Amino acid sequence: MGDIWEESLVCTKCNKKTEKLVLNRDNFDIRVWKCKDCKKTWPHPLDDKKFSEWKDIKDQEFKVKIREVGNSAVVSLPSEIASFKELKMGEDAVWKFKSSNELILKFNSS
Ligand SMILES: [Zn+2]
Repeated sequence: MGDIWEESLVCTKCNKKTEKLVLNRDNFDIRVWKCKDCKKTWPHPLDDKKFSEWKDIKDQEFKVKIREVGNSAVVSLPSEIASFKELKMGEDAVWKFKSSNELILKFNSS
């Protein structure tokens, strides 16, 4: 399936081919086409949609309970997070300490 990102976009105002780049807004990577002349940008429609979801979710705190399963302690990922990340069951993720009191969960998918 071809992604629209493969397409090149021409600025309708300047009639020039735009360049593709990735901008970081609020810690979210968003792909855009940018016209070098007039500096106008067009966000990738999928990223644009995801970015508005990101704005809703980014400052939320999700309270979870730590449970015991076998010899491990288990925490659940709230459905909002699973849905935002479009997680697939069986996917790998990595825990890493940020400080002695904070863990970062890294997903493979971007
Ligand atoms: Zn332009």
